[in-house]
Amino acid sequence: MSDTRSAIRIDPDVLAAIRAGAAAAYPNEGCGALLGPKADAVRRITSSLPVPNIETGTPRMRFEVAPRDYLAVEDEADRRGLSLLGFWHSHPDDTAQASRTDRAYAWEGLLTVIVAVPEGSPREIIAWEILSPDEPFTSVPIEESVTGRPITVISTFPAI
Ligand SMILES: [Zn+2]
Repeated sequence: MSDTRSAIRIDPDVLAAIRAGAAAAYPNEGCGALLGPKADAVRRITSSLPVPNIETGTPRMRFEVAPRDYLAVEDEADRRGLSLLGFWHSHPDDTAQASRTDRAYAWEGLLTVIVAVPEGSPREIIAWEILSPDEPFTSVPIEESVTGRPITVISTFPAI
C-alpha cells in the first residue's frame, strides 16, 4: 500500500447497510465498523458490523465506541480473516463534513466515514483519514467496488 490516499472501494451491500443503519438511528447518530481484506493493494470495504453508540449525553451530536466493542470488532475481523479499516457514523440533519470532535476522536490509520442524514434520509458519504497526528483530517475518495462509480464529490469539503 504505497499510496494510502488512493480511492477506497466499498461493496454496494455495505453502502446499503450504512445508509439503512444511519436512517434507522435517526434522529440520533448511528455507527458501525468497516472491515475489508487484509493484504489488499487497494483498500476495499467488504463488510460492516453494527456498533452501539454508547454516548448517552448528546447522541445527536457525537458518537462514542466503547473499548469492549472496539475489541469485539477486532476479534470478529480476525475470525473472518479481515482487517478493521475504520468506523462510520451518521450526522443527523447535518452535512458529511468532519467536525473538530471527529478529528479529535479519529484513530490514526483508520477511516472515519461520515454519512449525512438530512431529515432522516441518508445522502452524501465522505471518508476522512489522518496519516499522522500533525496532519489535517483529509477526505479520501470512495468508489463503489462493482461499477467504480464515485460515491462522493469531495472538493467542497476542506481538510480540518
Ligand atoms: Zn461526526
